[in-house]
Amino acid sequence: MKITLQEAAAKLKSAEKILLTAHINPDGDAIGSTLAMMQILRAMGKFAQVYIDDKLPRNFSVLPFEEEIKRPVDGEKFDADLLVILDTAPDRIGKVIEMTDAPILNIDHHITNKSDVDFLHVESDAAATCEIIFKLCRELDVEITKNIAVCLYMGIATDTGFFNYSNTKPATLRAVAELVELGVEPNVISEQVERRTFLDVKIVSAALQTTKLFYGGKVVGMFISEEISRKVETTEGLIDLIRVIDSVDVAFLLTCKSENFCRVSMRSKAVDVSQIAKRLGGGGHVRAAGCSIYKNFEEAKNILVSAIGEFMVETGYLLSADFEEDRETALADFEISD
Ligand code: 5GP
Ligand code: MN
Repeated sequence: MKITLQEAAAKLKSAEKILLTAHINPDGDAIGSTLAMMQILRAMGKFAQVYIDDKLPRNFSVLPFEEEIKRPVDGEKFDADLLVILDTAPDRIGKVIEMTDAPILNIDHHITNKSDVDFLHVESDAAATCEIIFKLCRELDVEITKNIAVCLYMGIATDTGFFNYSNTKPATLRAVAELVELGVEPNVISEQVERRTFLDVKIVSAALQTTKLFYGGKVVGMFISEEISRKVETTEGLIDLIRVIDSVDVAFLLTCKSENFCRVSMRSKAVDVSQIAKRLGGGGHVRAAGCSIYKNFEEAKNILVSAIGEFMVETGYLLSADFEEDRETALADFEISD
């Protein structure tokens, strides 16, 4: 059932033992929003604990209380009277869904989240789940401490590409201004997010070598093999290197994680990639979306490139004649010769 922010606040007020979670493959908004919410609930005198069923990227270890996030083990239960799911629908929280039968309160900003939970609050115009949590603090009359502010800032900054993307609204910047007034140091956060291992920086050049254009240059793809994906700490940011190409509308990053498991990230300038991701079992936002494809690398590539092309034809971004043509665009003209 859909509920308002005020109703979501009321659900939180009446709960006592709260299990908090966010999506697997957690990003700054997933980790930031759960840690902020945990601190808010504890300030209200509640028992609150965060469980995320995945490894946490090193870049977010700067967040206060990050070390308190637990990963569930098989069969583990949690005595909760409310399960709060942030920044995702319940289908991407792994084993946490099995930890309790408590009612679910789901707070999210993904337009594709139409989940049939007990209580659903989705604000698709919020830049980040952290922006919703920022407003929730007012509803709950909880003071935003510096530690809460740092977590909220992390989510908003990373989900807006540091205030670059179209989801950056005046309200987003007002929230962020307030968080900075409360003590957040933007340079400290961005340095932490930008940190890379030597190998991760070296891998950028290998990744760029794999890029291919499709459909006359309207689509670009980058391919990370299983071997490389095992070596790198993060592939975050790689897609930003190719989405800027002037002819390109849709950019994708296809990463082979294991034999029949590939991950997809998509970015676009106009095409609604959340619809393409949804068709492939994923979701996201109009200009940033993702999904998993349970096939080998080559099959996944074909499925993805076809799905993108088909959708672009349907929505008028691509002529069907271009779709029929050899999809991969010859790169001969672009070769760098010495
Ligand atoms: P990213 O490419 O940064 O991993 O994800 C872009 C956006 O798409 C994020 O908002 C993310 O939550 C969403 N997204 C990525 N992968 C999936 C997926 O497998 N399922 C759903 N529902 N959303 C996804
Ligand atoms: Mn988010």
